Amino acid sequence: MKYELAIVGAGPAGYSAAIYAVRAGIETVVFDKGIGGGLASVSPNIENYPGFESITGMELMEKMKQHASRYTNIHFSEEVENVIKSDNGFVVKTINDSYNVKAVLLCTGTEYRKLNIPGEKELTGRGVSYCATCDGFFFKGKKVAVIGGGNTAVVEAIYLKQIGCKEVNLIHRRDQLRAERAYEKEAQEKKIKIHFNKVVEEIKGNGKVESLVLKDTKTDEKTKLAVDGVFISIGEVPQNSLARKLGVKLDEKGYVLVDKKGRTNVKGVYAAGDITNGLRQVVTACAEGAIAALTVTEVLGKKYPY
Ligand code: NAP
Repeated sequence: MKYELAIVGAGPAGYSAAIYAVRAGIETVVFDKGIGGGLASVSPNIENYPGFESITGMELMEKMKQHASRYTNIHFSEEVENVIKSDNGFVVKTINDSYNVKAVLLCTGTEYRKLNIPGEKELTGRGVSYCATCDGFFFKGKKVAVIGGGNTAVVEAIYLKQIGCKEVNLIHRRDQLRAERAYEKEAQEKKIKIHFNKVVEEIKGNGKVESLVLKDTKTDEKTKLAVDGVFISIGEVPQNSLARKLGVKLDEKGYVLVDKKGRTNVKGVYAAGDITNGLRQVVTACAEGAIAALTVTEVLGKKYPY
């Protein structure tokens, strides 16, 4: 099979791009290193994607996957290891094969940021988690902590309380949350214990998480908080290794710089979704994927009427 466009990453941006690209007459292949859906698929609840008042991330991503699969070939569990510029396009090297294409659309998204403290790595999967939707169930009736002060941390804390955790602590390094006021209000109503001005210095446990060592950022006082599980929700970092290899310009945080049509500084390389550091919402990722997919027509000698 000959392809013109390779889309790397099957999250909201990649799925949407695939639908638009194929409908515009572009021979498209999509690669994802895992099962697709990106980080949106682990969101406990999405309430701001128009048309769905409330839907789990997993369900919404499954719907997008079904929709995109009607149009194109999606190669799941096929990681792209490198993309190399060739005479008339690019060679996409995956763990399985090589593909010659004319254009590449990076929809590689982000991954969880790590705290990089003692105990984090050793106890991951033994009480340390980065995803309440995935692992929250194991902590029903138990004491947990969520680290972070953004929307994700607060939504995850609310979710953990909702599914029956006995006590949910939210630990934030500053004296106010970054999360939207509506989420903060709900957290207060759900009796989530918010610890302001605290950083986690260490996660302690023998084979499984037992406690956290907290340090007060104002007084330097150290305290111990006994918990059975800890959910680290301190944001994301861009998955930009392919962009770097291609010589694509990044911003100071490592996100891919694009123009309004999804073009990078490298001809034939486009990017969309969270990797470009926009609003980081499902709806904007889908829109960016659609725009970039149609812009790709410019390097294929195809016309798109817009
Ligand atoms: P975020 O908004 O970047 O928040 C990250 C939080 O982690 C911040 O409170 C930050 O503290 C804290 N943090 C970062 N590094 C830390 C460290 N080393 N130690 C301790 N704390 C640390 O990330 P997010 O909450 O994952 O959200 C990502 C994006 O998705 C945002 O644009 C968000 O609005 C969006 N989102 C939206 C929804 C929704 O609309 N329903 C839900 C989830 C996420 P500081 O505040 O001190 O910087």
